[in-house]
Amino acid sequence: MNPNGADKYRRWDAAYVLGSLIPSERQEFEEHLPGCADCSAAVAELAGIPGLLAVLTPAEAEALGRTGSENTPPGLLTGLAAKTIRRRQRTRLAIAGLVLGASAASVGITVAVTAPATPTAQATVQTQAPAATRLTFEAAGANPLTATGSITAQPWGTRVDWQCSYAPSPGAYPSRSGTGDAGALGYSLVVVDTRGAATQVGSWTAGPGTVVALTASTSIKAADISRVEIRSVADGRTLLGARP
Ligand SMILES: [Zn+2]
Repeated sequence: MNPNGADKYRRWDAAYVLGSLIPSERQEFEEHLPGCADCSAAVAELAGIPGLLAVLTPAEAEALGRTGSENTPPGLLTGLAAKTIRRRQRTRLAIAGLVLGASAASVGITVAVTAPATPTAQATVQTQAPAATRLTFEAAGANPLTATGSITAQPWGTRVDWQCSYAPSPGAYPSRSGTGDAGALGYSLVVVDTRGAATQVGSWTAGPGTVVALTASTSIKAADISRVEIRSVADGRTLLGARP
């Protein structure tokens, strides 16, 4: 933005592409993009990384989650991804979360962001400011979760943002005796399209009293999404569902 000074947004590109910016930061960055060719170009350049990361093994993903980049196995990442990962811990954690989620589900996480093939695709990144469609989640039976969210049509598919809150009492959770993890359980976000096909687009682990704000990307068009569900990884049960 300012050619003579530091552009504080210049290092936000990877976190943005990986969906690890909090909603207010993301909005701020998206307002910045149309006026900044550097950041727009960087976002376009990185847009294929989430799909690339989806093919990593759990061990590789764990290596990415460690603080020191010296732990990253040599040859694991392409130069571009490696450069990105060294930038910020937040980026590393986001990558680890994405990849671990994909591995846990035994299906490829569908953060298949299509890399822009032409300069006109970069222009799309700069000019798109689509409206979000609100998701009102309703509980399918008694459970300690509540959630709000939205879906936003993008040139490459749909971005899903959601915030999930957990009842503070561990007593509200099914006990998992012997695990010693204070009730932390795995959850997945699943998009059901108009043909009834369910696709997991994200997963996470959280325990009592926590609030998580997450973003996922899918190549499924927003118009083709009929339901967004939060499911228990342990038994596949749908806990919350929303119709866009
Ligand atoms: Zn910028």
